Amino acid sequence: MVDQDTVAYRITISGVVQGVGFRPFVYNLAQRLGLRGWVLNHSGGVDIEAEGALERLTTFIAALRDEAPPLARIESLEAVPISANGYEEFEIRHSEAQAGRFMLISPDVATCPDCLRELFDFADRRYRYPFINCTNCGPRFTIIEDIPYDRPLTTMRVFPLCEACRAEYEDPTDRRFHAQPNACPVCGPKIWISESANQRVGEKVNGEWRMENGETHIPDYAVLSTQYDALAVAVDRLLKGEILAIKGLGGFQLACDATNAKAVQRLRERKRRPHKPFAVMVATLEEARTHCAISPAEAELLTSSQAPIVLLDRRDASTIAEGVAPNQKTLGLMLPYTPLHHLLLRDVGRPLVMTSGNVSEEPIAKDNDEALARLSGIAEAFLLHNRDIYARYDDSVVRVIEKANEREKEKANLRISEATNRRVGAQIAPKSEIQNPKLQIIRRARGYAPFPVRLPFGAPPLLAVGPLLKNTFTLTRDEYAFVSQHIGDMENLETLAHYEAALATYQHLFRIEPEYVVCDLHPDYLTTRLAADYATEHGLPAPLAVQHHHAHIAACLADNGWAPELGPVIGVALDGTGYGTDGAIWGGEWLVADYGDFRRAAQLEYLPLPGGDAAIRHPWRIAVAYLHALVDPEDYPAGFCPGEAGLIRQQLEKGLNVAQTSSMGRLFDAVSALLGVCRETSYEAQAAIELEQIAAPAAALAPYPFAIERDIIRVAPLFYALLGDLARGIPVPEIAARFHVTVAEMVVAGARRIREETGIATVALSGGVFQNRLLLELTLPRLEAAGFELLLHRQMPPNDGGVSLGQAAVGAFALRKTDQK
Ligand SMILES: [Zn+2]
Ligand SMILES: [Zn+2]
Ligand SMILES: [Zn+2]
Repeated sequence: MVDQDTVAYRITISGVVQGVGFRPFVYNLAQRLGLRGWVLNHSGGVDIEAEGALERLTTFIAALRDEAPPLARIESLEAVPISANGYEEFEIRHSEAQAGRFMLISPDVATCPDCLRELFDFADRRYRYPFINCTNCGPRFTIIEDIPYDRPLTTMRVFPLCEACRAEYEDPTDRRFHAQPNACPVCGPKIWISESANQRVGEKVNGEWRMENGETHIPDYAVLSTQYDALAVAVDRLLKGEILAIKGLGGFQLACDATNAKAVQRLRERKRRPHKPFAVMVATLEEARTHCAISPAEAELLTSSQAPIVLLDRRDASTIAEGVAPNQKTLGLMLPYTPLHHLLLRDVGRPLVMTSGNVSEEPIAKDNDEALARLSGIAEAFLLHNRDIYARYDDSVVRVIEKANEREKEKANLRISEATNRRVGAQIAPKSEIQNPKLQIIRRARGYAPFPVRLPFGAPPLLAVGPLLKNTFTLTRDEYAFVSQHIGDMENLETLAHYEAALATYQHLFRIEPEYVVCDLHPDYLTTRLAADYATEHGLPAPLAVQHHHAHIAACLADNGWAPELGPVIGVALDGTGYGTDGAIWGGEWLVADYGDFRRAAQLEYLPLPGGDAAIRHPWRIAVAYLHALVDPEDYPAGFCPGEAGLIRQQLEKGLNVAQTSSMGRLFDAVSALLGVCRETSYEAQAAIELEQIAAPAAALAPYPFAIERDIIRVAPLFYALLGDLARGIPVPEIAARFHVTVAEMVVAGARRIREETGIATVALSGGVFQNRLLLELTLPRLEAAGFELLLHRQMPPNDGGVSLGQAAVGAFALRKTDQK
């Protein structure tokens, strides 16, 4: 029976609407409004049929957007009137897979406040259960093997729900309704602790070590303790100064007591990572404040549902060992983001180093056997569990960029908004994520990927393979660019395997069969060969090669949703290395660029790089080469050129294996070495990072001189002035600071010249050099004062982790044009 006043609508919603409590929200909303019909998850999103009085339906449709659960992101909502079917109730229908359709998948989400409360509630049935989660939190991307997002298609399928969990799972009014990873101590995953020790306990069955409950085989490793005792053992080991490998959300982490200098040093030696800073996990925001100064914007990031590592200014009073971040004024802190982390941090009662479970530059280990094999030389014990990780997923690293005066202003604003909220009893807005205007992402993985970037134009199915270092790939379809999580430096087989596995996952989950491939212009990159092989294997046209810095600027445009009709911008791309169209190594480039094309409008002058890219690990050699090219020998710093320097000069004079580079990264290296800050490096950009870290407050300092001849920025005046300061005994921190001011002035001077010539007044900044916070905080106000509009990266890192997005944007735009012809 259909009532006269009954109207009906078919509503189609796409976006992140699965695994975020959307269906129960729709169900409860329909119940509240007395509507009838159904809601259905499918591989393209959510469909709803609702019928009832028109007024109520209007309210319903508006509320779908306005009251959506905090983790949902609605990309589109379409409501079409249909004839009513006369349903008697509102129900949740079963998921359907639809060929070719895809859905957006939620990143993993940090433990929510409700679950945290239950975790430490003695009366709760999940008291201290390390895998507690609900529709508002827990693993997502790391456990999904296919869509639609349903338990049988996740790594949770091997844990049949117990009666109590099933009741929650099936009750639309429960917080765990259709929470796919729902679990409890009765039915869910378990933890245990193992070690590679000789004092084996446990039982050997058929040549394999077996847990007490016989569930999992651990070859050659002894089970020390299972389930609840395991945490106590782990805590005990950590307090003794041991190194633990912990199976986390997207892979293994290596942990040790961050206040124990010896433990930290041992971890460095075993991980073969002498200097690169480690991240530290602390139990609470309050504890974080005892180690670092934290602004409101930084606090918001730390406590967000992404819970990334946030780079913060370290306090002198911090008890964290110096060796955690040698030669740094900053510390990377994060808060616990899984129940296991919460338990561990609370029980151990001190900050823990929490770094990727790998050796040197290999990818993070994810499976138990793999970790036991790869990390046994590092960790003394392994805190394991039996929930499989499908996708490797590193911790994300972010920071806040703000001008010094803004920090004060923001504090004042926050006080006002807190007061307003209290007065009207309003909810504090849901945690902003990628929209935080001050957020700079440095490594994009957990909490952010695989959420796509929305392109300002439609793209064909296309694969952009990325460059070499800090690599990601991008797949496009429709208006979406799916940028992979951080994969790593494409320099070893393990990383290549991780890359290929991630690529297969993305292609499968998002239903993308690339018809084109895009790569870097560099002929020798592993990714360039990979692109060629991919094209051959799949019978696709030869890959389109995109110049590295063009890709950087295009990435920044796409990141900002810059519409192609808006025309070209001034793109300042400052980084370490990118293959130029002339075969030289570029990296200090002022381009006039849009998606379609670019022109090199200004550049740093070419300087010699003995040994090519291999010089990157030896800033001191770069300093020698730059002095040789720019400065009279009698003006060299005293005692600078003994021994090896002579050899390098010979090499330069003969021109043997000497590349030409306009790289800004190398200029930082040379200055860092000249000032004695860093002469040899053990990780990428170390010399530049340490130069930034040592710099004194720079805001009031004058720049060193430099010259612009036509489109070439010349640095000999800078070198003479800097050496003069050094000879006069000006403190190194002050010289380092003035150097930063000089580079900021160069950025502005180059941009001004191009504006005079072209009238373009928008500047896009990209490249790894802009990860330098001091430089960025000096550059931004100068560009603004000069009247430029600024485009900064928002969703992607400025470093090479964003380059695949730019390759994809350039490729998609080129192919779009071809299609239109
Ligand atoms: Zn929760
Ligand atoms: Zn259960
Ligand atoms: Zn780059």
